[in-house]
Amino acid sequence: MPVTFAERTELLKASEIREILKITQRPEVISFAGGLPAPELFPVEEMKDIAVKVLEESGSQALQYSTTEGFDPLRQQIAVRMNAKFKTDVGATNILITCGSQQALDFSGKLFLNPGDVVLCESPTYLAAISAFKAYQPRFVEVPTDDNGMIIPELEKILQTNENIKLIYLIPDFQNPTGRTWSLERRQQFIQLINRYEIPAIEDNPYGELRFEGEILPAIKSMDTKDLVIFVSTFSKTFCPGLRIGWVAAGARFIEKYILIKQGADLHTSSISQRIISRYMEIYDFEAHIKSITDVYRRRRDAMIHTMQENFAGDVRFTRPQGGLFTWVKMPPYIKAVELLKQCLRQEVAFVPGDSFFPNGQVENTFRLNYSNMPEERIAEGIKRLAAVMRKY
Ligand code: PMP
Repeated sequence: MPVTFAERTELLKASEIREILKITQRPEVISFAGGLPAPELFPVEEMKDIAVKVLEESGSQALQYSTTEGFDPLRQQIAVRMNAKFKTDVGATNILITCGSQQALDFSGKLFLNPGDVVLCESPTYLAAISAFKAYQPRFVEVPTDDNGMIIPELEKILQTNENIKLIYLIPDFQNPTGRTWSLERRQQFIQLINRYEIPAIEDNPYGELRFEGEILPAIKSMDTKDLVIFVSTFSKTFCPGLRIGWVAAGARFIEKYILIKQGADLHTSSISQRIISRYMEIYDFEAHIKSITDVYRRRRDAMIHTMQENFAGDVRFTRPQGGLFTWVKMPPYIKAVELLKQCLRQEVAFVPGDSFFPNGQVENTFRLNYSNMPEERIAEGIKRLAAVMRKY
């Protein structure tokens, strides 16, 4: 008998781009393609100290199975920080600790989507959210966006004209891939609209705390009067991704379901990782750590924007993010980003072509650049090489 796979796997294909980008792992390539935090900012020495402390103080619990919901002191710490930063009103019982926020995205698909159901998302949106949801065989409808977020009248039209919309996915702060942030007004208009249609929304916010200038905006979750918003976040960008600690914050009716799904998926998130991060926040100054990250990323963002301003032609547009890890470039329609990438790889510089961020494809003249993972001089050198290749078009 031949081996057969479940239908849901049919949509899961290795992307051609991922294959091309494999060569960017060579050290001589200047790669703006990844989304990695700067490893030199990981608090390695402090973590050695904390790991020893956790094992000495609570070794047998840290190495034992634990509750599905997560380590209570950590849930409490997360709730307190979220409320202080994003003006939400959540308690520890609203929090489920997940294995990175990626797991929370997968669970969201599992919780809400039957085959053929509709997911609305920003156009463009986070590539791996598309992959996570795809496993549940939905249809994606992309909502047009501008510099202030989803365009609300367009969203309303889509809500009026599509059936079986089960979920809206959005990244309001320093979006991956565009670096754009929703304005306060858009957030308010969005919540008013979904309150009318009563559709759950996933507010994915891994970057909100990495703000270089201005004030952190209230989360859409903070305006959620009908308990429709599911806030998802992570320590991957503010601390380190290797611990794999993320979370879902939502009202009881949702969080109970997420807990059931988590139980069936992996019982609970690593006990020792949760205790380490929790103890770190008790002993060390986490806010100072975040500030040291934002100081570095701000300089890297500046180096990238400045070099693009100096070297890109006038008809090439790019975003100027106020935080996060990415900027987004839009070229004239006759330049295809995939072709440009092939040329750029010969000059040992790389980026991610934009079409993978559009679930329904077909936008070929955009690309994403990451600036968090290398020093300013290398950023400037890479952008100059990229600009030189672009000029040949
Ligand atoms: N959401 C967004 C928008 C992201 O950019 C990322 C990481 N690149 C994630 C979720 C997943 O992060 P993690 O699983 O490490 O928490």
